[in-house]
Amino acid sequence: MAEVLLENLTKCYGSVVAVNRVNLLINDREFFTILGPSGAGKTTVLRLIAGFEKPDEGVIYFDGENVTDLQPFKRRIKMVFQDFALWPHMQVYNRDRYSNLNFGLRIRKWLTEEIEQKVSEVVQRVGIKKELFSRRPGELSEGEKQRVAIGRAITTTPRVFLMDDPMTNLDPQSKLKVRKEIRKLHQDLETTTIYVTHNIPDAMAMSDRIAVMRDGIFEQINTPKNIFQFPKNEFVRDFFESAKVAFEI
Ligand code: ADP
Ligand code: MG
Repeated sequence: MAEVLLENLTKCYGSVVAVNRVNLLINDREFFTILGPSGAGKTTVLRLIAGFEKPDEGVIYFDGENVTDLQPFKRRIKMVFQDFALWPHMQVYNRDRYSNLNFGLRIRKWLTEEIEQKVSEVVQRVGIKKELFSRRPGELSEGEKQRVAIGRAITTTPRVFLMDDPMTNLDPQSKLKVRKEIRKLHQDLETTTIYVTHNIPDAMAMSDRIAVMRDGIFEQINTPKNIFQFPKNEFVRDFFESAKVAFEI
């Protein structure tokens, strides 16, 4: 539900330039993926967009509004973290207590009945079974944790939905299904999704456009098909070689 513009965005940690003068326009309702090897700066870009980090330089706009100095909660973004960041001591859902699925709504002072209604909508949408409600994150599989993390993120519809490699620990069979589900969720929510991964087939399967990132810069930004067929340089070509093999099987 928002166009995201990054202008000259830079973030350093000591002598490491994690994000180096990056420019990017992500369209409203686009499924945009930042793809690259570990250490490229992908998570840092997401954290800057979310507002968890302050840039050293540069400006972030949502629909033309400068949000660079806005607190994360004022940006109306939601982020699904790589490790899901569920509350370990809380149950998946308990209508009478703070739990993973109702926490955000309770602190916003929603009524219990409204929350109940919203949670039942969300668990249906992301496929969380009622039997899991009383469990704590330590008692869930990776796939179940992922669903709870996504469910928690969409109890209120975010303007921008940020996902940091939420499929890293899923087995290949689940992956195929989850890719479709994430893509459908993106469409149903009518939101702008920015997805981060090092996994080329995931990026190819879900994205409208991809930015290939390395050492703090975007090497190439285009549609999956276009990057795959016309890699702009040796790095992008080599990076995509491994995926080509997988596609040919
Ligand atoms: P990616 O998500 O692509 O793996 P990151 O954005 O996590 O990459 O990291 C980019 C670079 O910034 C790496 O060199 C990493 O070590 C460094 N970095 C990230 N976060 C911090 C931090 N909090 N403190 C110091 N260095 C960091
Ligand atoms: Mg990362």
